[in-house]
Amino acid sequence: MTLRLDHYINGKYERPAAEEYFESYNPATLELLYEAARGDKDDVEKAVDAASMAFKSASWKNLSATQRGHLLRRLGDLVVQHADELAMLESQDNGKLLREMKGQLQTLPEYLYYYAGLADKVQGAVVPSSNIAIVNFTEREPLGVVGAITPWNSPLTLTVSKLAPALAAGNTLVIKPSEYTSRTVLRLAELATEAGFPQGVINVVTGYGAEAGAALVESRELAKISFTGSTQTGSRIASQTAARFVGSTLELGGKSPNIVFEDANIHNASMGVVAGIFAAAGQTCIAGSRVFAHRSVYEELVDKVSERAQTIKIGNPLEETTELGPLAFQDQLEKVESYVNIGREEGATVVTGGTRPDTELPGYFFSPTVLTDVNNDMKVVREEIFGPVAAIMPFDTEEEVLALANDTEYGLAAGVWTQNLARAHRMAKKLEAGTIWVNTYRAMSPMSPRQGFKSSGVGIEHGIESMYEYTRLKSIWINTDEDAVADPFVMRS
Ligand code: NAD
Repeated sequence: MTLRLDHYINGKYERPAAEEYFESYNPATLELLYEAARGDKDDVEKAVDAASMAFKSASWKNLSATQRGHLLRRLGDLVVQHADELAMLESQDNGKLLREMKGQLQTLPEYLYYYAGLADKVQGAVVPSSNIAIVNFTEREPLGVVGAITPWNSPLTLTVSKLAPALAAGNTLVIKPSEYTSRTVLRLAELATEAGFPQGVINVVTGYGAEAGAALVESRELAKISFTGSTQTGSRIASQTAARFVGSTLELGGKSPNIVFEDANIHNASMGVVAGIFAAAGQTCIAGSRVFAHRSVYEELVDKVSERAQTIKIGNPLEETTELGPLAFQDQLEKVESYVNIGREEGATVVTGGTRPDTELPGYFFSPTVLTDVNNDMKVVREEIFGPVAAIMPFDTEEEVLALANDTEYGLAAGVWTQNLARAHRMAKKLEAGTIWVNTYRAMSPMSPRQGFKSSGVGIEHGIESMYEYTRLKSIWINTDEDAVADPFVMRS
């Protein structure tokens, strides 16, 4: 019997109104994992109603910020207890290495603990007043029902990045996970109920983007949309919500430069390039897919990266020694493959990879690929591939590489490899990206805010700043002098 997953609404599983389900497969083995409810407008409305009721209910509204923090902390503890189970479920769902998932599960509770601690610290302030009779202060209020729409590449982490600050601030949530990865987000919602979150505070509607996702974006009750996914979908969501003055936080795509100067530790830099593009099979928004190497170290870097790419162990993501798992689904594999073919047609040289490798498993595997003879005008360098494909290009001067690195519609992240401190600072200042790594890549923490520049996003995730995204600010003025006679025609301050 195939496992059936329903929506999670009002603290319990609910069958879809239309009684329709869709199948979800393990991308490494192609075995059927489960069927998930195919959400539609009716299901979304039910979930939004539940979240709206919960937002107004005494059991949530009357909790102090400290009590909300306690609940998040308890959820963090439950994630610790269920770390192995969650890591396994997510690895099976999207093909991420179990090893990497275990690492993610170690940091995931930190997100919950961090925002648990912030719940009663992000607040309004007393505002200085030029009139001693006036007391002016601000209050930060929750927004209401937040819609969270997430992608498949890191379902748990990307969901918790929204859920933790949104709940810490006192909102309620309707989450629409990617149709490719429904499982762990549903499990997280169950754990939230176990942690003591009142019913309706966290709801999950599974289904397709054009159905459940679109219905959530269109919901009239929504106070905000927090979206992580492609730039294309983000742009569509932003225009729909802006027309109704509903705020949005958008974490979108990238085409990040990873720049290696001649004075870098070349071994470390080449491993940083490998980590940037081949970890998670390149299916990360921050993938360092455009590699720039100073001409004097270019060949050495190409050799080192290609040699390591050839020894990457491809296979079952559940095995401890595997370094590269499958792409998450068939369309993704075909997309990556077609980009490599476009690259070939544009004149790129495939130094290594570019093929579906032989593995014992039937899944969607693609070899780590290194392209050279590429330039900034080519499609493979301009567009997000979201797979294990690095384009390596030489440069001669710092000025030149800055111009090349910034010549992109995206601005999510950038890597710089140099031992020259002044150069590191200069580059960090001038690169147009929300996250800059020097002599490292993929470092991340719940404490460090991140923001996509240009077409990579709007708004901030992580850090204290993310809490502000889930609140609105009210300015309150109180006159303490009953005898003061004001001139009704003059503005008071
Ligand atoms: P996607 O845009 O196709 O889908 C993301 C989510 O949006 C899914 O849940 C999907 O069902 C939903 N969706 C699709 N169409 C919709 C619509 N019309 N209305 C409402 N919802 C809709 O993206 P994806 O392929 O799942 O994820 C990969 C993309 O995500 C890449 O571009 C990657 O760079 C980006 N990403 C960004 C970050 C970041 O923090 N900036 C992190 C991870 C992934």
